[in-house]
Amino acid sequence: MAKPRLPSVPSVAVSFRELPGTRVGFWVVASCPFCAATHFHPAGAGKTDPMEKLGEVEARCGQGRYVIGLPPKPKRKKERRAENKRARKSGRDVLWDDFDE
Ligand SMILES: [Zn+2]
Repeated sequence: MAKPRLPSVPSVAVSFRELPGTRVGFWVVASCPFCAATHFHPAGAGKTDPMEKLGEVEARCGQGRYVIGLPPKPKRKKERRAENKRARKSGRDVLWDDFDE
């Protein structure tokens, strides 16, 4: 029985850059998994949805292929804010308790 090829294509997080003064966008691979260099992948110009250019592409250095995608959204900020709110509220409660007594 033929085994399906294992997906050995690494995933890399990219960030979007737009050339100033143009509508030409690029997905930027900060660190290539093969050569550690920065690679730029065209993300279309103007009418094209940059998101459509995400997916498996060949590394610009030609050493292999990787899947480019957006990095997972950081949740830290929101969590920290919620914690601050909670801390502030409990602090106020303590103050009010002091006033009552
Ligand atoms: Zn490379």
